[in-house]
Amino acid sequence: MKPTGLLFFPAFDWAISPTHPEREERLLYTRDQLFEEGIMDLPEIREYHPRLATAKEISRVHFCVPDVESRVTQAHLVSAGSALVMADAFMQKEVKNAFAIIRPPGHHAMTVSHGNRGFCDINNEAVMVEHLRQKYGVKRLAIVDTDVHHGDGTQEIFWDDPDVLFISFHQDGRTLYPGSGFTEELGGPLAYGATINLPMAPGTTDTGIHYIVDNLVLPVLEEFKPELVINSAGQDNHYSDPLANMSFTAQGYAVLNRKLKPDIAVLEGGYSVETALPYINMGIIMAMAGIDFSNLREPDYDPARFTESPANMNDIKALVKKQLASFRGREEVVEMRRSGGRTFETATRGVFYDTDGLREQQRVTLRICPDCCGFRTIASSAVQRSGRRYAVFCISLPRACCKVCTDEARGAYKEVQAQTGYDYVYLQDRIKDEFRTFDGKTGQETAI
Ligand SMILES: [Zn+2]
Ligand SMILES: [Zn+2]
Repeated sequence: MKPTGLLFFPAFDWAISPTHPEREERLLYTRDQLFEEGIMDLPEIREYHPRLATAKEISRVHFCVPDVESRVTQAHLVSAGSALVMADAFMQKEVKNAFAIIRPPGHHAMTVSHGNRGFCDINNEAVMVEHLRQKYGVKRLAIVDTDVHHGDGTQEIFWDDPDVLFISFHQDGRTLYPGSGFTEELGGPLAYGATINLPMAPGTTDTGIHYIVDNLVLPVLEEFKPELVINSAGQDNHYSDPLANMSFTAQGYAVLNRKLKPDIAVLEGGYSVETALPYINMGIIMAMAGIDFSNLREPDYDPARFTESPANMNDIKALVKKQLASFRGREEVVEMRRSGGRTFETATRGVFYDTDGLREQQRVTLRICPDCCGFRTIASSAVQRSGRRYAVFCISLPRACCKVCTDEARGAYKEVQAQTGYDYVYLQDRIKDEFRTFDGKTGQETAI
């Protein structure tokens, strides 16, 4: 039996502030616990060392404004790079599954990055997905986000990608950051139904969450048939978490992992730093490695506290029924939208970066293509933390694009360069695996 790959990167030199719950002790207590229990010495575990992600690997997903170097620290590159190390270990069949226990986290980081949102600058899972596609030709994947916060960054990145199934269950956005992840958010016009949100009422217990896993998550995965399942593993649904209000337990998380069987898990949130987090992470590692975790209990665990209310169970059953129907009816909706006759669909929106306190304005356009998933452009502007305003135009060309979309996207990159008002024009050409930046002031172009 192959071992489970583990990689720890606590990022000693990166924190929002010294007293902020998102700090390096989050991982150090887990590490201590694992050593204490002797888990790291077991033949079922193989430890890996991190590497830096390159600017090119980041650019396969993100438009960092003005560039990757100015947007991220080394800690971000190591965090993303660690996910890539785990992906390589899995794809090269050195391990049966892998868990990147890393920070800074990533699931709130969107395609365009002007700064930090929800403690995230770079979306580690998304960078890993594009790496898996580029290096190994993986096409179809699923990301199941088990963090208590809606994975809005991951959702936005794969919104128009019909080959990435994104499932997020989280505390209802009306009661928690980032205030999104509602049932009607089901993906873009050509990828409708490949995004599934499962908002849950505060206080939901293991019983409610496992009902969703058994009756929605597992059947949907079975039908979607992804080549790989990735888990955005946030541990902040736990009853002791200081940033949220759910009632999930360490056992609940471990059983969830055993059912989900993720090929690669990447750590997201979880802020019960000293008490519960080490137990939850240990339970997940034991589940992945096939080690018996039935005795794993939080020191203060009291089963009487965790009964699900019949009213909440009814809501959860209705939620599952509704989302299952949306998923199963998705192809019909996509066909209808594809044949609607519109060549481009445009939307404007604002993106708030809570950590950095800045607001970005976007105009997003998708080509509604009869033959492929289309390509997306984003005109974006924001006053960054430095006080400088940037206006940029981003063109994203997916690997699965048809010839017409490819030519049109590359043509748009040239055309927009002639327009004044943009500081930078970017082309993310995933087919050529080439990432171009045109500087509107100097007229110079760089490519990586
Ligand atoms: Zn979270
Ligand atoms: Zn096309």
